[in-house]
Amino acid sequence: MKPNIDINDWKIIESQWDSKQQIISESLFSLGNGRMGQRANNEELFSGNHLLGTYIAGVYYPDKTKVGWWKNGYPEYFAKVINAVNFSGIHITINGEKLDLNVAKSVDFFYRELDMQHGVLSRNFQATMNSGIKVTINAQRFLSISQDELAVMKYQIKLDQNTELKITPFLDFNVSNSDSNWGETFWDHLKEECSGDRGFVHSKTKKLDFHVSAAMDCQLTNHSGVSSTNKGYAETNYYVNAIQGVEYTLYKYVAVVNSQNIDPNFINTHAKKRSQEAKKQGFKSLINEHKNAWLEKWELADIQIKGDSSAQQAIRFNIFQLLQNFTGVDSRLNIGPKGFTGEKYGGSTYWDTEAYCLPFFLASAEAEVSKNLLIYRYKQLDKAIENAKKLGFKDGAALYPMVTMNGEECHNEWEITFEEIHRNGAISYAIYNYIRHTQDHNYLKEGGLEVLVAIARFWAQRVSWSSKRKKYVILGVTGPNEYENNVNNNYYTNFIASWCLSYTAKCSLDWESENPISYSKFASKIEINSEEINNWEKIHRNLFFPFSKEHNIFLQQDGFLDKEIIPAKDLPLESLPINQKWSWDRILRSCYIKQADTLQGMFFFEDQTSLEVLKNNFDFYEPITVHESSLSPSVHSILANRLGYKGKAYSLYLRTARLDLDDYNNEVHQGLHITAMGGTWMSVVYGFGGMKIIGDHLHFQPELPDKWTQLVFKLRWRGAFLSVNINQHNFSITNLKGPRTSFTVSGKTHYLNKGDVFQTK
Ligand code: BGC
Repeated sequence: MKPNIDINDWKIIESQWDSKQQIISESLFSLGNGRMGQRANNEELFSGNHLLGTYIAGVYYPDKTKVGWWKNGYPEYFAKVINAVNFSGIHITINGEKLDLNVAKSVDFFYRELDMQHGVLSRNFQATMNSGIKVTINAQRFLSISQDELAVMKYQIKLDQNTELKITPFLDFNVSNSDSNWGETFWDHLKEECSGDRGFVHSKTKKLDFHVSAAMDCQLTNHSGVSSTNKGYAETNYYVNAIQGVEYTLYKYVAVVNSQNIDPNFINTHAKKRSQEAKKQGFKSLINEHKNAWLEKWELADIQIKGDSSAQQAIRFNIFQLLQNFTGVDSRLNIGPKGFTGEKYGGSTYWDTEAYCLPFFLASAEAEVSKNLLIYRYKQLDKAIENAKKLGFKDGAALYPMVTMNGEECHNEWEITFEEIHRNGAISYAIYNYIRHTQDHNYLKEGGLEVLVAIARFWAQRVSWSSKRKKYVILGVTGPNEYENNVNNNYYTNFIASWCLSYTAKCSLDWESENPISYSKFASKIEINSEEINNWEKIHRNLFFPFSKEHNIFLQQDGFLDKEIIPAKDLPLESLPINQKWSWDRILRSCYIKQADTLQGMFFFEDQTSLEVLKNNFDFYEPITVHESSLSPSVHSILANRLGYKGKAYSLYLRTARLDLDDYNNEVHQGLHITAMGGTWMSVVYGFGGMKIIGDHLHFQPELPDKWTQLVFKLRWRGAFLSVNINQHNFSITNLKGPRTSFTVSGKTHYLNKGDVFQTK
């Protein structure tokens, strides 16, 4: 079953009701504000197939690991950002019958809208109850982006006859995770209270003691609530002698507070105070403030595509989701592959953040937002060193986890946990990327270099000397292509390791020559000396890269050409996706590649890859790539653009941009692919927008798909704020704000002061 979404530039719209679509729509219409997020569960009861989901950033549970065969080094737990209090619920009872769209006699009309410009979710429908009474609902809600503890709801009801109506807003902490490893529930309920229009529930996680308190303040004109509570549950009931045709409006103001920010002893007082303040401020003022905050975000981040509404809607959907899943106000938070939209991947941090999301935030938000993503890893450095130690590394070598909440590894498939070590590379590359974007070289001194050194130490210990090859080799790894395990000399891993060693050496030497005194303090703190740096450079110069002279390509790993190479287009449709249709053994033996691997390296290091090398490798690898990771199409779309493969670039763009809206992989019910959305952004700006950073310099070489008449995007670059405006014939760049800046077009460098415009002929 595919989503049923209307095309609209700023909105996601569903204009027909189908109970079976609900679980899909709950993902697509999700809301978030960086601090918390929620699937678009109906306010009123829904007894059909759905996934209840409210998630609070950073509040997680160490769910005891479940594996068949234990391996030394496996983590004890898998961290999960867990389902938390359902705060948006409002039950409706009409003459004793509960409103439930799954069992209503009919749904006469239905309209659901996610207004991405303003961050507001609304539903408008009419249902006929089994009693024959017709009820019309107008529901609106938002998670305030300007006051991120607040969720606000307005719920309007009209009936076609006089009835006994009961409206029951509630808070319910009796929730569970459908992916709980041992069927456990994760919350202990501490306190619940309700009186009149107000109530709260306070629970804490059974392990780690995260406290969460949710308080509500409700309002229904001329009515007072009659409250009741149960363990972990608080409700208030409004009994209304409803008059035919009169609209009744309930407001529900909720504050959700957690112990990461507020002392658990004061958490209930704080939550109650915040919901009361929200009620005082009122719906109109809160929604206006929220909408304005969204407009400000769009001011920095919007992309306009003219001539292709489906692409326009898709890019805004991707940007909207990125912005609502991470606001960058707290360096303890990060971006899970599904963000706040589902349980899969546990809300934990992957290399996706650095490799796919950081570029978006660098260009589309204030520098602090990206810096907080870097600081997140810096704060977890000790744990990464501990993690490497557990695996036998020493002397301050760090292996960052593949999956983490607090810095500890929590993935438990040996081929990923122990072998997918390339993730260390993305973390060092992110530091380099941040500095070249922002020119904040000082970050190296604030922690960046400490991270780089620890990672370089890992690589220096992880390589081995091959006397046969007279080169350093890296054995027993899994590259980004998880359809191969335990391979030797994965090109991407070797490349990023070699680069990291050389970059770290350069950063250390630069600091030493620029300020020997402060450097020597740093060097003695982390016990680094010139011998160690020389060793990194030696490994960098002598690392082995598998190469095929016959095909003139770098090999994804040693022995890759032993495989039978058959293009993916020749695979029968019924065997796709191979990760669902084939045995794992068959996948491992095949030539098929899950996602960019060799090409991921060429994408990161475009400045070290000639077009000819890129072409040879792309022409070899892309045809055997099945793009079964959501991270795959975007990078390939960008590279296809570089090579002038316009058709391919566009079809891969649609696949990444509309991955969830069109549900290419039939899995949107599980949640959205939030981190892949950073890739979508890159495929527009780096791909069609033709932006590249070569060495230290910004370049543009745009090429629009035939259908697009105009592409406009904004870009933060070293304190300047640029607007890039491209059509089929020419393009312009305006320096809207900030210092003088430079970029290159067709080999020529241009300089723009604030307010200046560059225009091609
Ligand atoms: C990909 C990984 C990625 C993870 C989370 C996997 O399918 O192969 O590269 O980190 O999903 O998005």
